[in-house]
Amino acid sequence: MKLLPYWQDTATPFAGGASGPLEGKVDVAIIGGGFTGLSAALALAKRGASVVVLEAARVAAAASGRNGGHLNNGLAHDFPSVAASLGMERARALYHAFNDAVDSVERIVTEEGIACDFRRCGKIKLAAKPEHFGKLAASFEVLHREADPETALIPRERIREEVGSDLYHGGVVYNRSAQMHMGRFGAGLADAVARHGGRIFEETPVTGLTRLQGRRHRVATPRGSIEAEQVLVATGPSQNGPFGFFRRRIVAVGSFIIATEPLPKATLDAIMPTRRNATTSRIIGHYFRISPDDRLIFGGRARFAMSNPTSDRKSGEILDANMRTAFPQLRDTRVEYCWGGLVDMTADRLPRAGEHEGLLYAMGYSGHGAQMSVHMGQCMAAVMGGQDAANPLHGLDWPWVPGHFGPAWFLPLVGAYFSLKDKMQ
Ligand SMILES: Cc1cc2nc3c(=O)[nH]c(=O)nc-3n(C[C@H](O)[C@H](O)[C@H](O)COP(=O)(O)OP(=O)(O)OC[C@H]3O[C@@H](n4cnc5c(N)ncnc54)[C@H](O)[C@@H]3O)c2cc1C
Repeated sequence: MKLLPYWQDTATPFAGGASGPLEGKVDVAIIGGGFTGLSAALALAKRGASVVVLEAARVAAAASGRNGGHLNNGLAHDFPSVAASLGMERARALYHAFNDAVDSVERIVTEEGIACDFRRCGKIKLAAKPEHFGKLAASFEVLHREADPETALIPRERIREEVGSDLYHGGVVYNRSAQMHMGRFGAGLADAVARHGGRIFEETPVTGLTRLQGRRHRVATPRGSIEAEQVLVATGPSQNGPFGFFRRRIVAVGSFIIATEPLPKATLDAIMPTRRNATTSRIIGHYFRISPDDRLIFGGRARFAMSNPTSDRKSGEILDANMRTAFPQLRDTRVEYCWGGLVDMTADRLPRAGEHEGLLYAMGYSGHGAQMSVHMGQCMAAVMGGQDAANPLHGLDWPWVPGHFGPAWFLPLVGAYFSLKDKMQ
């Protein structure tokens, strides 16, 4: 078994990075070369701005290259609960922003000719307990009427048309959701940035930021420093660099994934006949899909822990058992990949984007950001061009997480609390 992301092992890595010292002036410096940063860089470079991306490691190798491969539309939250706390109009706008996000990915894939197996497959949210189906159905009724007529309720007796498992008790289908090969998209996006004149500096961590005036900053790295008229912080759950404001608001939580060997068509037809993305209704739930080369990619939180090779392997063992419980048909199937990554969680699991003391930022996608990060990169590029209304997340307040300054010491407690809640609900 390989302890690395399937997406990165089956894509040609980006090879167009800039070399030499970092110096001079640019219109925009982007900190972080994940989907948020690369997408913003692409939009800015296409508009003729001079732009650099400063990436601490390799592009699209953190969450953007380690995720489950789903581009799901809609909020990860229960829609009526969001409407109750933020109002129906705002809830609808946020929901539709995720529809726009999937559209943004599709547009970029088409415009830049990125071969990444993008497919509008739909997603099914599965009821993991009989009583969860009632809750999903009540929520579906409001959602379908108020925000998404392209959703459909699948009762228990039809669930095997969607997923070949006895574990699930019905579900809701979101037809606008899509999927793609995240590694091929990440490399293609970085190639497009470079082709349009953006400069990407890999292995270039930002270590210092000095505000000069308004949005203008001097950005320091071990490779030198650069003056930028505007700076976008797109660092996800970064543990490094001068980003204390963001670190107090984002909790880095591990999420883990395994991928099987390629499966025969008969097995695929038996376990996932519709080949959609699937997520389950538990708080510590699962997400799964079929890869372009016919593997089952099966992920979940497994443990409330950080991601590193030892932790990934332990979590992989839990996921392996969970997968075989869900799909006894895979009894003799080999698992060939296991990996993990860090999710940038906010307290309310809604992403945030805006401006703080002259720094623009977009982050906090809370495990539901492969599509939204691409979209927010485009939106924040428009904000930098003067279109403030282009930010669909404007005006969401963002208090810090009390007691949180960096590594999340409270994760095991949170994990224990959610496990208990899962058992009781
Ligand atoms: C295991 C896992 C599964 C997931 N599954 C899904 C899914 O199926 N569907 C979905 O929608 N979302 C999913 N997500 C979430 C999704 O992948 C992220 O929301 C999205 O990729 C975030 O992109 P980003 O560019 O904001 O952040 P990232 O991809 O994390 O990129 C941030 C970059 O900033 C760089 N950086 C940090 N600090 C510095 C510094 N000081 N200087 C320079 N660079 C720095 C990092 O090296 C990194 O490359 C998953 C996440 C994980 C971890």
